[in-house]
Amino acid sequence: SPPQGYYTRRGGIGESGDFITSPEISQVFGELIGIWYVSEWIAMGKPKAFQLVELGPGRGTLTDDILRVFKQLSSLLSKCDVSIHLVEVSPKLSEIQAQMLTGGKVESNPENKSAYMKGISKTGIPIFWYRDIQDVPPGYSFYLAHEFFDALPIHKFQRTERGWREVLVDIDPEVPDQLRFVLSPSGTPATENLIQPEETRDHVEVCPEAGVIIQRLACRIEKDGGAALVADYGHDGTKTDTFRGFRNHKLHDVLKAPGAADLTADVDFSYLRKMTQGRTATLGPIKQREFLKNMGIDLRLQVLLQNSRDAATQEQLLHSYDMLMNPKEMGERFNFFALLPHHRLEDPEKKHKPESKSPVAPVAGFGELLLK
Ligand code: SAH
Repeated sequence: SPPQGYYTRRGGIGESGDFITSPEISQVFGELIGIWYVSEWIAMGKPKAFQLVELGPGRGTLTDDILRVFKQLSSLLSKCDVSIHLVEVSPKLSEIQAQMLTGGKVESNPENKSAYMKGISKTGIPIFWYRDIQDVPPGYSFYLAHEFFDALPIHKFQRTERGWREVLVDIDPEVPDQLRFVLSPSGTPATENLIQPEETRDHVEVCPEAGVIIQRLACRIEKDGGAALVADYGHDGTKTDTFRGFRNHKLHDVLKAPGAADLTADVDFSYLRKMTQGRTATLGPIKQREFLKNMGIDLRLQVLLQNSRDAATQEQLLHSYDMLMNPKEMGERFNFFALLPHHRLEDPEKKHKPESKSPVAPVAGFGELLLK
């Protein structure tokens, strides 16, 4: 809801808000993701230009950390034309992003119907803001969606003896100002269209908006090249009832004070994979812990520890490493999932010489790191 929605009004990311995310915990997270893109850019033959497109950039911290990596690797990227494209619906968060990334030097962009704001990053890279992925111009692009898909609305379904029913929200007739869950008395358009025929679970959550967006990303990658990295908490088609709310870092009844709490549901990666319709290859989901290890987080931590002299900073580094990696914290709850063009995972020699054994460069994070 533009006037009453959570992200358009509140959008409480960070310690003083409702929830905390990995890029807000440690700079290392964004740095390793920056390396992922540079590594894939190299593996794909160093194209002359790429767009980095982030969906739901929050406070802009992740892009800021990635831009620092691009700057540090500027000798590698110097001949590449890089631009940043942020898809953000929240006016409040887009202002915070503009401040973080450009120091506030942005202009609104009414003459250009697609990007509503533009600016130049502190490191000299052009940045554009959009409300919808469809508005981002076509072109070779790397996409990033961190804790984005879990924020999109879901449909909930329950299997009954009479067939699938949709879980709906109703006004409680007995208690004023109170909402309640009810089951639809019969099937609904959503029960007809959104449940996979082979579904075996009794309770399912489906996020059709995520399906549409993944389809768009897959079409764009198939046509123009690039890759997408999706990181979120989720499962591979096994979980059932994950819809929940957070307010001030505590669980919050999803039906209480709508618009005032962060509502979230685990991402069903099996659904995302299905919705690519084979247009791209997919990798993962793999656990955050495994992905960050493969990306060299231990080495990066050692360097930061060596470079920091005071004990408080070292303690903070170790604490944030634990938050990201500990299986009980974010290490196993979060997953990484990637879309890549099919040719990225196929051996080009094989077509002509089926006996060829030349290996395809492994995809960083999901295999060995190419960029040392
Ligand atoms: N990626 C950030 C923020 C995650 S919160 C981080 O990890 O810290 C979710 C983000 O998605 C917010 O920026 C929110 O405003 C944005 N968002 C939510 N719904 C959206 C939609 N439909 N289209 C575009 N952005 C959306």
